[in-house]
Amino acid sequence: MSSLWSTLKRTTKSLNVAKRQVRFLNLLEFQSKNLLRNSGVAVQNFCLVDEKSSSEFENFNAKEYVVKAQILAGGRGKGHFDNGFKGGVQLTTDRNIVKDYVSKMLGHNLITKQTPKQGIPVKQVMIAESVNITKETYICILMDRTYNGPVIIASPAGGMDIEGVAEKTPELIKKVPIDIHQGVTDKIADDLAAFLEFKGEPKKKAAEEIKKIWEMFKKVDATQLEINPLAETDQGLVISVDAKVNFDDNAKFRQKDVFSLEDHSETDPREVEAAKYNLNYIGMDGNIGCMVNGAGLAMATMDIIKLHGGEPANFLDVGGSVQENQVRAAFNILTSDPKVKSIFVNVFGGIVNCAVIAKGIVAASKDLKIPLIVRLEGTNVAEAKKIIRESGLNIQASDDFDEAAKKAVASAK
Ligand code: GDP
Ligand code: MG
Repeated sequence: MSSLWSTLKRTTKSLNVAKRQVRFLNLLEFQSKNLLRNSGVAVQNFCLVDEKSSSEFENFNAKEYVVKAQILAGGRGKGHFDNGFKGGVQLTTDRNIVKDYVSKMLGHNLITKQTPKQGIPVKQVMIAESVNITKETYICILMDRTYNGPVIIASPAGGMDIEGVAEKTPELIKKVPIDIHQGVTDKIADDLAAFLEFKGEPKKKAAEEIKKIWEMFKKVDATQLEINPLAETDQGLVISVDAKVNFDDNAKFRQKDVFSLEDHSETDPREVEAAKYNLNYIGMDGNIGCMVNGAGLAMATMDIIKLHGGEPANFLDVGGSVQENQVRAAFNILTSDPKVKSIFVNVFGGIVNCAVIAKGIVAASKDLKIPLIVRLEGTNVAEAKKIIRESGLNIQASDDFDEAAKKAVASAK
């Protein structure tokens, strides 16, 4: 995937254009913790229950339990459920109360600062052995463009209000760039443990944990590994109590185990389908389906549609080496979306052969019930136009970008 695409995904994410997660591999807390444990990082013992089975809990015993809703968003502790129940993270020593908490969480939507308004349905609940936390710190390793490499962000004031800490007391946040070849040295780990205000034996443990966290970051090709809190317990242990990991899509080919954990149930089904055909697709809320080649042209197309008062139903970059079957797949995704009222194909054939696009369009639009506006330009455009003309299909062709966009907007109304 091109770096432009990665940038776009990041921009899209930060601007929250689509108002929800774009297609990144995201893992639930328990999956991230399994990865951490595989790298030797200290995490609590836990079991999992879902609507089908609570059998794991039958054999799981602890003095105190922490019950945690598993969703692909943070802020659970301060969140609330659509049934009015408050808190996606609960503590209790009573097994019956554990079951009661589980029943209040499973099947209900958990709403947090990081979820859409309606929240996210909870399909799994983690029940872990609770630890007595005496100190909550924050540590995150991420790939940072400004530093051209990994950076560790740390704060002694971890826990549920880390955003507030960053805003009000930025001196409590430290950024340490890491040389990717040298890695996290003993000195870096010790300094970080000291900055996190660990002392004595726990300080040594914290430094060890930080080195293991770094090893995991490298091993799984993470772009971000956030531990909040990295906690000290009353037993003097240092434990990763909560974890959030993002991965580099470009490493998919060598991280098959990690990527096989991907759960699509929270992902837009249009995006899941598009991913099968290697199409760069982001679903949006409008009614004009767009099929474009090149991320830049796709952005410009969405801009022009909005400029003329329309709303795009998606971002779709079919890429430079697109084949006819991908064009057909792209079309099927657009036409199977009931919100889509018109389709705008905007292709500039530089590498792409316009005739391939035209053949795909014609093959996919035989039963098309909605207006289709096509603007093709570039390589082999004459033949492409001939294919469209001779298809006998009701396709509105246009040579001018602006005019084509206006037609697409008008016909969606
Ligand atoms: P988040 O709200 O989604 O970030 O979920 P966390 O797993 O970070 O839990 C939220 C907060 O609950 C933590 O910051 C801790 O203060 C608390 N917490 C989580 N697990 C435990 C535990 O095992 N024992 C205790 N005492 N508190 C916990
Ligand atoms: Mg947390």
